[in-house]
Amino acid sequence: MFKLLIITLIVVYLMRSFWRLMYPSLPPGLEPGKPREIPLKACEYCGILVAENKGIHRRGHFFCQADHADRYYA
Ligand SMILES: [Zn+2]
Repeated sequence: MFKLLIITLIVVYLMRSFWRLMYPSLPPGLEPGKPREIPLKACEYCGILVAENKGIHRRGHFFCQADHADRYYA
């Protein structure tokens, strides 16, 4: 019984090494089909959640669009 366990572990280990040789792991964030996660931030004016790179920062606050930043500080 113990022997079987050892053999199983060796087989699993070999299969994993083989799998890594066949499919080298990509650096994190570059996996195909998995978009890089961009943090969502709430617009200070309307509260809508927008990806950080889609909105704008103005005077330390985040807005979904320039118009809302203008209205916020108007
Ligand atoms: Zn907004």
